[in-house]
Amino acid sequence: MTQTVRVAVPLYLPKTLDYLWQGEANAHKYQMVEVAVSGRPYHGMVVDVIEEDKEPKRKYKLKPAQPLEDITLPTPTGKFYEWVSSYNFSFPGEGLRAALQGGKIPPRPVAETVLAATGKSPARLTPTRQKVLDATNNHSYSTQTELAKKAEVSTGVVKSLIEEGCIKAKIAGTKELNIQIKRVNLGTAQAQAAQQISAAMANKSYVPFLLDGVTGSGKTEVYFEAIADLLQQDKTGQVLVLLPEIALTPQWLERFEERFGFTPHIWHSSVSDGKRRHAWWKAYDGSARVVIGARSALFLPFSDLRLIIVDEEHDPSYKQEEGFRYHGRDMAIVRAKLFSCPVVLASATPSLESWHNANDGRYKLLNLPSRYGNATLPEIKVVDMAAQKLKADNFISPVLLKALEETVNNKQQALLFLNRRGFAPLLICRNCAHRVECPSCSACLVVHGAYLQCHHCGLSESYPEVCPKCNKEKSLHPFGPGTRKIMAELRNILPQARCMVVDKDSVATPAQMREVVDKMQKQELDILVGTQMLAKGHDFDHLMLVGVIDADMGLAHGDLRAAERTFQLLTQVSGRAGRREERGNVILQTHTPDHPLFKALKDMDRDRFLALELKGRKATGFPPFGRLVALIISGENENAVIASSKQLAQTLPTEAETQLFGPAPAPLLKLKDQYRYRLLLRTDTPPHELLQRWLLNTKLAKGIRIDVDIDPQSFL
Ligand code: ADP
Ligand code: ZN
Repeated sequence: MTQTVRVAVPLYLPKTLDYLWQGEANAHKYQMVEVAVSGRPYHGMVVDVIEEDKEPKRKYKLKPAQPLEDITLPTPTGKFYEWVSSYNFSFPGEGLRAALQGGKIPPRPVAETVLAATGKSPARLTPTRQKVLDATNNHSYSTQTELAKKAEVSTGVVKSLIEEGCIKAKIAGTKELNIQIKRVNLGTAQAQAAQQISAAMANKSYVPFLLDGVTGSGKTEVYFEAIADLLQQDKTGQVLVLLPEIALTPQWLERFEERFGFTPHIWHSSVSDGKRRHAWWKAYDGSARVVIGARSALFLPFSDLRLIIVDEEHDPSYKQEEGFRYHGRDMAIVRAKLFSCPVVLASATPSLESWHNANDGRYKLLNLPSRYGNATLPEIKVVDMAAQKLKADNFISPVLLKALEETVNNKQQALLFLNRRGFAPLLICRNCAHRVECPSCSACLVVHGAYLQCHHCGLSESYPEVCPKCNKEKSLHPFGPGTRKIMAELRNILPQARCMVVDKDSVATPAQMREVVDKMQKQELDILVGTQMLAKGHDFDHLMLVGVIDADMGLAHGDLRAAERTFQLLTQVSGRAGRREERGNVILQTHTPDHPLFKALKDMDRDRFLALELKGRKATGFPPFGRLVALIISGENENAVIASSKQLAQTLPTEAETQLFGPAPAPLLKLKDQYRYRLLLRTDTPPHELLQRWLLNTKLAKGIRIDVDIDPQSFL
């Protein structure tokens, strides 16, 4: 009997497509097939099998669907791809598309070679050579540089050992993971937390946990213990640890390797194709026991997931804001539900949503009340910048300067935090007040020394000699602080200090970051000037002072979560100070010292702040009390965009308990030459059905695009 299969194809296509099944055995759900769309081959997923074609009078002949080497996705994984697409009001193939590369399953990995000791001892066994041999023991390194780095020797040493035949490239194969777990003695609260997670894991039950504890309270150790339990008790079963991409540092991975004796699979945007292939196939065949990744790792085709960790669960980077929009944290909850396993959301500053869920009992709260060991939380001082007399173009207050001096004199280290790279955010003409803007975006160009750059579209142009508007010479002035300007100021006021900028421009690769970390640990640096690259995942022994140049920066957006986000970021940055025995200091420079968030930071009263925020949300019916959907209407012609937005607003089916805000020009009105208007829908209940009715009959004018953003996080 011929079967027809309904296939979700990994393309931006509004519907599933039907094909004629070509397999010998019967087709089944979530089987992967090769199909052609517009003459090009793609790997699709069977979402329905139709025994008898109920539409015998199709106008066209169905094209064939060829089964792919019997690859069938585990049901919880197939369901997840379907669910994610529909929840996010996207097209049916979007979830699958996020799991594939270029619409296809990555090719099966060719055997990877690793450098391994052959057993032959070198003629002369120097200490450096011994280091290399030791390094090959438990780990696999495929290149000489990697191995040399791990052994902390020069590549010459590795080369000479290869030449002597003591080390050889071998096929890395099917050898079992050499798991060597170092157990730690957990404190009481830690042990209780780990035990609850392990119990849920053993029962194979879906339990969402909120692991709430200040930075340094030992949250990582708690979930490491749970992972250790799984690895030790079971020969199979997988763990997924999600981290914000910038927290996924070599330091973090080393800590993992130290603890477990093996290298986990890594998944993020800059992982090589080869490593991706391995991760994909090993997630599928179950041999990847632990995957550490950024949000997109959620889409790996796990076969037997037993635990998901979402570390820094409040982090905004979990939300994918372009193309297929989804919230990694929220999708992780669903992934866990489908696999019937526990999921742990960990944070020192939980999102209001998760905190509310924990208070209401929907999530199980695991609380770690204090920093581990003798470490205490740093003392936080708030400096009112309005009361400071600073020279033009200076941003370091006398209080902060004094603290910096003391820190450096005591042979300790400081971090100056400013979440804005470059020299200055604005270039303004002193003669005509013209601001130099990006021609394609409604945003000012950022001054980077000899050139200007748009931080939205990447455009870069050279520093103009005259004002582009009034043509006056030498009238342009870079206003406001960027990391480079702070660095220049430091050189002036603290010439003896050894300083370095750490931002995307100066530290672009993990190796460069590694160097910074080493220099800090060896105390070859006194002060770092850094963006949020430094706010997470790094732990410096001698860092005792954190200064925040512009603590109000995040408040400027004024969106729903501005205060919450600022609180989270400042807590995170503050947590870098005094991670060991001695108490650290934090100085926050602000123009709004009376804002409740600063009081909460100073008094370390996070919960009061969260309660206050929650009250505000309740009054307006905003999340977590109601639901939001943003619609972004965009196109090249502004008038057409406005007309479409208005029309769309008028066609919303009237319904109780919903509110529509807008249309309003987006704060970033023009982006990459597209004009953007926004509508915001608030509902009391899940909005999907209403959206369905509203949007499915909407006819879009030519050149107009609508992006639907469910549970929006960004309002730009
Ligand atoms: P968090 O994830 O909450 O920021 P960590 O798990 O990184 O905290 O712990 C902070 C520091 O304390 C780390 O250096 C960690 O190794 C150490 N630590 C935490 N718990 C223990 C423990 N039970 N035994 C030994 N060291 C611990
Ligand atoms: Zn631009």
